[in-house]
Amino acid sequence: MTTLPFDIDPESRWLVPASLPDVGARLYEPAGDDGVSRVFAEVYARAFLPTQHGEFAILVFRNNQDEQEHVALVRGEVRGHERVPMRVHSECLTGDVLGSLRCDCRAQLDLALETLGQSERGILLYMRQEGRGIGLGNKIRAYALQEQGYDTVDANRHLGFDDDLRDYTVAGLMVRALGPTSVEMFTNNPRKIFGLKRLGVAVEARLPLVTPPTPENERYLLTKARRSGHIIPLP
Ligand SMILES: [Zn+2]
Repeated sequence: MTTLPFDIDPESRWLVPASLPDVGARLYEPAGDDGVSRVFAEVYARAFLPTQHGEFAILVFRNNQDEQEHVALVRGEVRGHERVPMRVHSECLTGDVLGSLRCDCRAQLDLALETLGQSERGILLYMRQEGRGIGLGNKIRAYALQEQGYDTVDANRHLGFDDDLRDYTVAGLMVRALGPTSVEMFTNNPRKIFGLKRLGVAVEARLPLVTPPTPENERYLLTKARRSGHIIPLP
């Protein structure tokens, strides 16, 4: 007799994969030298989520580091599987929701969801780290500085921020809670891979995510490649 990989979730009455962590499941960052484990991530809610790109389970995680609710979209069975395709996407309100052409976030998100929606299994983490971690208001202030000729990196520094404040501790804990044996990451940013490996996530391969540049975001992409270490094929 075969066991179906799905359970009826009593609250939503939708189908969610049986191997997903339950609400309340909590994972801690490995303890530091002082033996103290500081950061944890916990499943706060989960349900089935049909999307225009296919059917996913959605899990909302809470944590004690940044007070944000981060999201995992999970396609199929991932626990115990190797080389699960995964994208870690950082929130971009202007791009993802409003369709801004100043960056390539929405194109990358759409491409990742489309690709995962056609795969047997996969993970998309949607991390609420707007503007590389500096927040929406400061991101727009940085845009205003860019209009005066600063590039992305200099604009952030002018506002008193590092180029990239994003931290992948919580993302790493979320992946570990979902339990794939290893992942293949869609990313052009090697920092993300280092960040996850630090948490013990086995990253087998980097899959490039190539979206065509537009006249509006060409300069932003060039800066990403030249100054922030992103791997982007340049014209
Ligand atoms: Zn963006």
